[in-house]
Amino acid sequence: MSRNYYMAGNWKMHMTRNDAAQLAQDLVNQLRDGTHKYLVAPSFTLLETVSAVIEGSNIRLGAQNCASEEQGAHTGEVSVLQLKDLGVQTIILGHSERRHVYKEDDALINKKVKLALKHGFEVILCIGELLEEREAGKVEEVCERQTVKGLEGVDVSLLNNVVIAYEPVWAIGTGKTATPQDAEAVHAFVRKVIARLYGDDIASKIIIQYGGSVKADNAAQLMAMENIDGALVGGASLKTDSFIPIAKFQA
Ligand code: PEP
Repeated sequence: MSRNYYMAGNWKMHMTRNDAAQLAQDLVNQLRDGTHKYLVAPSFTLLETVSAVIEGSNIRLGAQNCASEEQGAHTGEVSVLQLKDLGVQTIILGHSERRHVYKEDDALINKKVKLALKHGFEVILCIGELLEEREAGKVEEVCERQTVKGLEGVDVSLLNNVVIAYEPVWAIGTGKTATPQDAEAVHAFVRKVIARLYGDDIASKIIIQYGGSVKADNAAQLMAMENIDGALVGGASLKTDSFIPIAKFQA
C-alpha cells in the first residue's frame, strides 16, 4: 500500500501544562525513529506548551476544534488565525463529541472544514454512526451523508489536506472496538464515496483513520486491513506506555 500510516492522539479535555509537556517530550523521544506519520491534539490551553516541545520533531500539532468564523464577536470561540499563530497544523473537525454532545450539525462542520482548508490547515474530518443507527442498518447512509456534507464545496485541489477518521460512536471510549472486518467494510465504502466525489486517484490516496477504543492489542489487526490507514486514538493516547505501542505498531 502506498499510503503512509497516520497515528494521531486526541487528548480531549485532559491534562494541564506540566503533564502535557512531559507526555509530549516522552513522545518526541520515543517516536524519533518511528516510521509512520504522527499527531497530537491537546486542548487549546496546552497548544503553546506542546508546540514548543514538539517543534522540529516528527510529531504534528493538532487542535480539536475551531470556530466557524475567522474572527470577531464570538465569545468563547477560538479562531483559525489564533491556531495558526500557535503553530497548529491540523484541525480535528466533526468529532462525535462535537456532533452529539455539542450538537454541531453537518452544515456547521462543513463551514469549519472549508475555513480551515482555506487557511492551509490539514483537516481530520470525523464521521461515524450511533449504535441505534448501526442497529437500524444505517451505517452507510450516515457515513455517506457526513462525508458528502462535510466536504460540500471543497475543491478537489484541497483534498490532499483532508483526512477522514471513521469513528463508530458506540466504540468511542467504551472499550468496544469494531472488528477489523466491520471497520474495513465501512472504510472501503467511504473510499468509494470519495471516488464518486473526487475520482479514483484522490480516493486511492486519501488517508482514512479508524478510531474507537484502539489499544496496543488491537492496533495491528486493524491496521492490517487494506483500507485502514491509521488511527485516531483517545484514551490510550494519554499515556506514553499505551500510545507508543499503538503509534509504533509494525505492519
Ligand atoms: C476519540 O476520541 O477520537 C477516540 C477514538 O477515543 P477512544 O480511543 O478513547 O475510544
